[in-house]
Amino acid sequence: MSSKLDPITQAVRIQTPRTQQGEHSTPVYLTSSFVFDDAESMRAAFAEESDDNIYSRFSNPNVDEFTAKMVALEGAEAGFSTASGMSAVVGSIMSLLKNGDHMIVSSSIFGNTNTFIKKYMPNFGITYTMVPAGDHAAWEAAVQPNTKMVYLETPTNPQLEVLDLEWVGKFTKKHNLIFNVDNCFATPVLQRPIEFGADLVVHSATKWIDGQGRVLGGVVVGRADLIREIYLFCRVTGPTLSAFNAWVLSKSLETLEVRMQRHCENAYKAAEALQSHPNVSLVKYPFLKGHPQYDIAKKQMSGGGGVFCLEVKGGVEAGRKFLNALQMLSVTANLGDTRSIASHPASTTHSKLTDEERAAVGITPGLIRISVGLEKVDDIIADISQALDKSSL
Ligand SMILES: *Cc1c(COP(=O)(O)O)cnc(C)c1O
Repeated sequence: MSSKLDPITQAVRIQTPRTQQGEHSTPVYLTSSFVFDDAESMRAAFAEESDDNIYSRFSNPNVDEFTAKMVALEGAEAGFSTASGMSAVVGSIMSLLKNGDHMIVSSSIFGNTNTFIKKYMPNFGITYTMVPAGDHAAWEAAVQPNTKMVYLETPTNPQLEVLDLEWVGKFTKKHNLIFNVDNCFATPVLQRPIEFGADLVVHSATKWIDGQGRVLGGVVVGRADLIREIYLFCRVTGPTLSAFNAWVLSKSLETLEVRMQRHCENAYKAAEALQSHPNVSLVKYPFLKGHPQYDIAKKQMSGGGGVFCLEVKGGVEAGRKFLNALQMLSVTANLGDTRSIASHPASTTHSKLTDEERAAVGITPGLIRISVGLEKVDDIIADISQALDKSSL
């Protein structure tokens, strides 16, 4: 595929070479291994002298098609896809760091990533310093002689903090650190971290990339030398993306740009409209004036994303009443779907933390996260408004 084509066009047109059947849509290559004509071609494949597929834990046509599209969309050199977002996160860290290395981690990261870093990395002798997202002095102070990687997410889940990618790019360059960023909330349609100096970009493809709540998947793209190490690690450890899920995700990328445009439009309109509801004390959305990092968001993103947060007055109990009063929005743990979703972190994902621990990561008792879908925006606003009416104590 000509790299002169726009990345959005490439996400539509990149395709595994057609079989002799002349199919228009790529078939699903449900096969665990691939056949060789002779001993010599098998030897060459194992010696990596040819690109022939060997075994679907190493490579598969559907997985490669999806990865090639993600590489084009992010403007990367190479990529590798995995079974879930978490296996992309873990693979991107464990393949590149070793006993004695240190990592700087933004404190506002996905819950399971946080658990992995705190609970499991120390078992392998990898140390870390967690730094507040926007506190650049703390980042500088955290650098040690053995620091190898910086890991962050922007916008963050669920507080929607925005980190300055240009600043992080300069910081990691100055200290010669691997810049690894989870771009799940923005997608490459809205934000391309490699343009700001990122070495690796990881995704949960489960969210906006699938965009229809069907499959799990993950992908990491970036510098070819680093991706090579991640590939070798994953090929041995086995967090393989299935051919079927890759087929679903590759098809999804054909509509990613149009979906994200409408998700952003709906999210902005809903966030703006709900600011004035009497039972709401705060609405947070990266592209709403008044967001603490509005200027940074405008500088590095082409849209505010599909998620906004609101704070219902009345704390945990009001948050629970709000969820119970919803008639159309789904109450579920996912985000990034055609269907709008509401969640209440204080009584669900973050319920095991104390009030103080929640406050430290910015989860207030009445915080509601809304993943805005593709329903007509007036219906989304109407459902949230009527539930807010009923949330007062
Ligand atoms: C969901 C999510 C992940 C993990 O992805 P899975 O596909 O669920 O493994 C990682 N990072 C962010 C920001 C997420 O929202």
